[in-house]
Amino acid sequence: MLFSRARTSLPSAPRRLDGLDPRRWPLWSLSRPVLMYLGLVEIAAAVAATMTATLVPITSQALIWCALLIVAELGHLEAARGIERIRELGADGSPHMHLQSIWIFAALLLVPPPLVLLVIVISYGHSWVRVYRRRSVLHRKVFSAATVVLACTCAYTVLYAGTAGQVPFMARLDGFSGMVTLILAGFVYFGVNYAMVVAMILVTNPANPGRQALGNVSDILIVGAAVGLGCGVALVMTVRPWLLPVLMITPLALQLGLLLPQLRAASRTDSKTGLITLGFWDEVAQRELLRARRLASTVGVLMIDIDHFKRINDQRGHLAGDEVLRAVATAIRGQVRAEDFVGRYGGEEFVVLLPGVTGAEAAKVAERVRLGIKALAVDVPAKDLGEPPVTVRGLGASIGVAAYPQHATELGDLLQAADVALYEAKETGRGKVVESSRPLPPGITASR
Ligand code: GH3
Ligand code: MG
Ligand code: MG
Repeated sequence: MLFSRARTSLPSAPRRLDGLDPRRWPLWSLSRPVLMYLGLVEIAAAVAATMTATLVPITSQALIWCALLIVAELGHLEAARGIERIRELGADGSPHMHLQSIWIFAALLLVPPPLVLLVIVISYGHSWVRVYRRRSVLHRKVFSAATVVLACTCAYTVLYAGTAGQVPFMARLDGFSGMVTLILAGFVYFGVNYAMVVAMILVTNPANPGRQALGNVSDILIVGAAVGLGCGVALVMTVRPWLLPVLMITPLALQLGLLLPQLRAASRTDSKTGLITLGFWDEVAQRELLRARRLASTVGVLMIDIDHFKRINDQRGHLAGDEVLRAVATAIRGQVRAEDFVGRYGGEEFVVLLPGVTGAEAAKVAERVRLGIKALAVDVPAKDLGEPPVTVRGLGASIGVAAYPQHATELGDLLQAADVALYEAKETGRGKVVESSRPLPPGITASR
């Protein structure tokens, strides 16, 4: 578990290394309670590591297991590094759970404490260099690693008690009591780590809602998955070490398989309006044009520009402008079919793709959209604090219409035709729909 970027009190992350000069470390800008808590956790981790260092002898078998776990950890994080970076950024101000616990928990079940410590240090060092690219503040990573060391020590104690100190634990855990010990150790590992990270987030950002410090349930479940997989890894390593690479496919495939579609969907959505981004709209439009070509069908395109939008920003402020943009986006969506694609072209401009629709039909849809926007009554925040909200009404929109294959056969030309029509609508008084007057491309008949 990592103590991710906190939102308020901490200074922004430096671009370079924390600095070789200790006097310039961002650590010193922390508040007293944070600094004390940080120091306490790190000292406790150092004491725990020292006290457990000679508890169990280090065998050559343990060294081989440790080396294998480190190789697996390095390979796993290298493969999933891009996705981990995005997850870490998304976890701003909440605990960020990561799948590296698989290797740490497996180490706990197989090797003596000093080697567990080595796996933790390499895992965190690796993630600091490769996921955070040293752009994060070092003391946060050291703190996160210290919480894991303490969590491991507590879980180790549970395992030690449950197996009467017989190592490797994985080879001894069996039967009902083995299962109970393992589950208990998993809970202790997770609970100690989680509690310390949440406490740090709360001490650092007392103003932030406590709910945020607890993180998402999905993130917490990730640690559950990591602990479970860690048990599997440890078991396979004790009985069938050559099967480990096969097991390694699981975390990687799960991580990429579950997260990639979500991330892709997020990158397709315009965060302000919830509409699709221009990049994704473009992809869909290309696909729909190909389909229309194959089926000898039609595709309508609308380019919509809100009239005098700048005035709303100027008179009511940008927050009010944003509110209007969201309302317009909803109004456009409300006037088209579910299978049409509404995208944000940029600023206060929108594009709509209407598969199977001709130019004349698209112009009718455009008029409906224009009237829908005009009918909006949007409550927007007042420009000055403390003033009651105001309502924006009678929004004008100019819309340019073009259709495939009537006005153009390539997407770029189709957009240009719609844009020229939009420009004409603006030039001839705004608040109207203009269909492209572009001549038919050669070889295209009007009946299509
Ligand atoms: P016209 O009728 O000619 O289209 O005039 P207009 O004011 O709508 O167009 P102009 O291009 O002059 O201004 C567009 C404004 O939209 C300027 C820009 O600040 C604003 N804008 C662009 N994106 C956003 C946004 O995301 N939020 C807000 N609030 N304003 C935006
Ligand atoms: Mg514009
Ligand atoms: Mg405009």
